[in-house]
Amino acid sequence: MRRIRAALAAALVIALSGPVAPAPAAQAPAGPETFAAFLGALRPDALGRGVSEATFAAAFRGVAGPDPDVLARTRRQGEFARPVWDYLVGAVTPGRIARGRARAAALADTLSAVEARTGVPRWIVLAFWGVESDFGASAGSVPTIRALATLAQARHRGDLFREELLAALAILQRGDIAPERMKGSWAGAMGQVQFLPSTFLGHAVDFDGDGHRDIWNSEADSLASIAGYLRDLGWNPGLSWGYEVALPGDFDLTRYVGEMAEFDRRGVRRTDGKPLPPAGKASLFLPGGAAGPAFLITDNFEVIRAYNTSDSYALAVGHLADRLAGAPALARPWPSGAERLDRAGLQALQRGLAAEGLYAGDADGRAGPKLREAVRRYQIREGMVADGYAAPALLGRLGGQP
Ligand code: CA
Repeated sequence: MRRIRAALAAALVIALSGPVAPAPAAQAPAGPETFAAFLGALRPDALGRGVSEATFAAAFRGVAGPDPDVLARTRRQGEFARPVWDYLVGAVTPGRIARGRARAAALADTLSAVEARTGVPRWIVLAFWGVESDFGASAGSVPTIRALATLAQARHRGDLFREELLAALAILQRGDIAPERMKGSWAGAMGQVQFLPSTFLGHAVDFDGDGHRDIWNSEADSLASIAGYLRDLGWNPGLSWGYEVALPGDFDLTRYVGEMAEFDRRGVRRTDGKPLPPAGKASLFLPGGAAGPAFLITDNFEVIRAYNTSDSYALAVGHLADRLAGAPALARPWPSGAERLDRAGLQALQRGLAAEGLYAGDADGRAGPKLREAVRRYQIREGMVADGYAAPALLGRLGGQP
């Protein structure tokens, strides 16, 4: 079991490395000549998108070659992955809650204006800001242009980072930030909000009115950019992200999607004692299996996942938002000693479920709504407890090897 646990621990790496999924290690570059050739091929594409010779030269001034630390990061796959409960403990700490509440008080006027403009509640905006950069304190110190050039030259994840590099050059061309101040994560997520350059171009906001969309130094721009992106992704101002709930003992887990009012009629209760909203659709989410905390999640949960494709991330953002607003800790403990599948195990499970005709998505090793749905269909077919949890035992039952 230990081997399986180690192998499967990679599934959550997505949650820990920003919006970039783990992938096979990038190829080491051959040397500075190769990097120069890469830049030579990049230049006409950049100029074709309106980047001037001067901007291009300034962007790569002092960048003699790829960043070996960035390349090393692409080779780390599973060792930092944690199960959802560990991720939650790390992301929603008492210190972060206290800092977030202090920021909420200090920035109350800005947050009110952002709410009025976007309809996204301040607690959600603050929770993203807190999880992404600890409210701006950990915005990342890796120079973005060099990081993206490194990943693009190595063809890490195909053409994705070359496109992001061209987008980053377009940001420099617009003058939103000086090249030496454009920093972020090793994977190109920038500033206090950890936007990739393409996300920045589509959704960043100049909220303080200085003419620059500055997600590195401006709190107002950062908050408004998070909220604007969520609005653009389809955030529904009339819904929460979800609620922790208690299920009655005889609850039928095979009926896990429906109207809030229907769940209420079936005896589902919020653990904080407040009533469920009278309207809206929800689905049941049991991230640690039937023995752990249960949540009714709404379409807004999927909006959070669109910012960063991870169930753990979405749960951390939603729960942190609730805690900042004064809600209590989760009522139900996580199951102790629970086993979970890592990325390779989830891929094997996806292949096994596909062979059964229950899963039609990619075997990408990502835990999400498609895999949950397939697991539930299998569990229902087999007469098992239909909690949608991708437990290692399921893989054994399907005859798969991680
Ligand atoms: Ca600004």
